[in-house]
Amino acid sequence: MNRHALDELKQQIPLMGYLQAHDWNPARPLSGGRWMGLCPLHEDHKPSFLVDTNKDLFYCYGCGRGGDVIRFAELYHQVKFPQAVAWLRQWRGAEPLLQEAARFYRIQLHRHSEAVAYLYQRGIRSQALIEHMGIGYAPGGCLRGWLMQLGHSLPALREAGLVTGVGYDAYVQRLVFPLEGNLYGRSLSLAAPPHRFLPGSKGGLYAWKQVQSHPEVILVEGLFDYAVLWEAGFHNITCSLGTHLNAHQLRQLCDGPRTIYVAFDADGNGSGKQAAQRLSRSLRERGITTRVVSLPEGHDPNSFFVQGGDPHQFQSLLEEAQ
Ligand SMILES: [Zn+2]
Repeated sequence: MNRHALDELKQQIPLMGYLQAHDWNPARPLSGGRWMGLCPLHEDHKPSFLVDTNKDLFYCYGCGRGGDVIRFAELYHQVKFPQAVAWLRQWRGAEPLLQEAARFYRIQLHRHSEAVAYLYQRGIRSQALIEHMGIGYAPGGCLRGWLMQLGHSLPALREAGLVTGVGYDAYVQRLVFPLEGNLYGRSLSLAAPPHRFLPGSKGGLYAWKQVQSHPEVILVEGLFDYAVLWEAGFHNITCSLGTHLNAHQLRQLCDGPRTIYVAFDADGNGSGKQAAQRLSRSLRERGITTRVVSLPEGHDPNSFFVQGGDPHQFQSLLEEAQ
């Protein structure tokens, strides 16, 4: 990539926008379009991270690091310069495309009764919840035409992973949940792998901004768990999309004092429980209070509610959690 292309990339991704998309919030303004906030690159307790929105540069008085948006991406994602550039290019290109795709999938949902029936069976029954999560449906076979009609190119669709190498829609008969910079697809067909993501990172914790300021947060592993708990009135909830948290998600859980209730699946083989305990240990080492919630054997939060559990019973499980 030559110098001109790099300058163009930086112009298209203002540092402040990129920081805020990664949950950074300025604590106080200084003169001349400059802001101070907590440093997202080291454990910071008083704001030492300076952002200059006119020059599009940052500097941290705590860890002494600074630079432009590419330098920030290198440090934040712990990658080398070329990977940071590739990451930013993908981030720039994929965002509007993914939003269009998600909108298309949302329109499809109510045209496909099998998709709505599946949601119903998994406890997702209210329109408010469907809208809150932006749930859509990929029937397979018409996304490509829709997006190309909107002016997106086939190579761009391929690069985002929405279309396969030979040009078919990548998601077929899947419920689709928009994430930060990705789309999660849950297959309705038993013949396909149940869980899929588009290429790239699964992003941060689900809906983190809504729970970030809450002193107690419930963490579940799947979006269907998230859905039933949200519907049951537990709005201090987030989801890690699997039991293995990426570095970004760990950092989010540790970005302030709070208690985390880990409510992973109680699988027969104990793997969910082990993962919950592992995570709980690593959070405690970082100074975060944790409680591991014990669900009845063989249950996840979704099946617990779908099979008749009520909010009071779940509340008792939270209170008993250790
Ligand atoms: Zn720092």
